[in-house]
Amino acid sequence: MEKINYIIKEPSRAINLPSELGFGRYFTNHIFEMDYLPEKGWCNPTIKPFTDMAFHPATMVLHYGQAIFEGIKAFKTINGDAVIFRAETHIERLNNSARRICIPEVDVNFVVDAMRELVSIEKDWIPTNKGEALYIRPFIFGMDPFLGVNPSKTYKFLIILSPVGAYYPRGFVPVKILVQDDYVRAVRKGLGECKTPANYAASLLAAEVAKKKGFDQVLWLDGVEQKYIEEVGTMNIFITFKDEIVTPKLNGSILPGVTRRSVIQILEEWGENINQRMISIDEIVDSYKTGRLVGIFGTGTAAIISSVGMLSYKENDMLINNGKPGELDLRLFEELTSIHYGIKPDTHNWLTYTEKKGIELV
Ligand SMILES: *Cc1c(COP(=O)(O)O)cnc(C)c1O
Repeated sequence: MEKINYIIKEPSRAINLPSELGFGRYFTNHIFEMDYLPEKGWCNPTIKPFTDMAFHPATMVLHYGQAIFEGIKAFKTINGDAVIFRAETHIERLNNSARRICIPEVDVNFVVDAMRELVSIEKDWIPTNKGEALYIRPFIFGMDPFLGVNPSKTYKFLIILSPVGAYYPRGFVPVKILVQDDYVRAVRKGLGECKTPANYAASLLAAEVAKKKGFDQVLWLDGVEQKYIEEVGTMNIFITFKDEIVTPKLNGSILPGVTRRSVIQILEEWGENINQRMISIDEIVDSYKTGRLVGIFGTGTAAIISSVGMLSYKENDMLINNGKPGELDLRLFEELTSIHYGIKPDTHNWLTYTEKKGIELV
């Protein structure tokens, strides 16, 4: 790969940011960009000022949705280091998504390095209050100005950064979930396991319907029988029973979450009985009635851990753990955030340290 070209106009500082950052509303001063050209492969890697972009109206992604993305977080540790959580794992998943949508793969080490460079340049944008982070959004999309249906020949890869607030600015509040059986998000052998905009387009209407009924999110059932649980909103789901913890087994329609993977590993290290298997919505309803169900929580980069306080399926409104956050959920949240902020040692090597490599201003 070529060396990154730097076009950096000014020292990058976050100014005038409100105290409640929310999610994905504010963006830092610089982006990373590179192109894919058939004759050159990935080329022109550049870190440059954040600006609007101009597109040909026939740009392929706008018509046929050939695009993939990742969502990653960088944190400022208590020692003042800027760290990225599981950077390689996320970029490997980006490549898995790429293969399914006929997008050329990227060089994982090169992209991780580019991400480190960008984050270190924007280090002063990493918010430092507990729960806050710098959200990293790498994404790739088809660029050919052409209306024929086939994979694009040219692509753009961008990384943008957004300082984000604590998911729970007023404390850990359990969410209300509606089990969705009128719509499906994904089917096996479809796009479910890819991080691609199409899955989000498929989910919007159900989420709007749920919100109108007073719920925060939707629990998706499998796309064929609508019998087995898959994911909740944009998170993976875990069910805590008295005798085991279960998360749905990856089957091709479930997004393989990096937080899911981390939580499974931590639970195994804690000696918990954690199983990945198919789990039906009927089993959950039965376990609720018999008292075997202890708790439900979601996992994802944005919220880290999100307790479910209420699950509604057909005529069953199930109040989970009296609507309070589960004990296990809080322990997991504490464990993960302690690793993020360098409060606990990073025994799994999940953190990528970013340090400035002597960038010169032009
Ligand atoms: C990103 C995502 C998740 C969570 O994955 P993480 O890697 O833990 O952030 C879960 N479900 C869907 C549909 C997603 O897009």
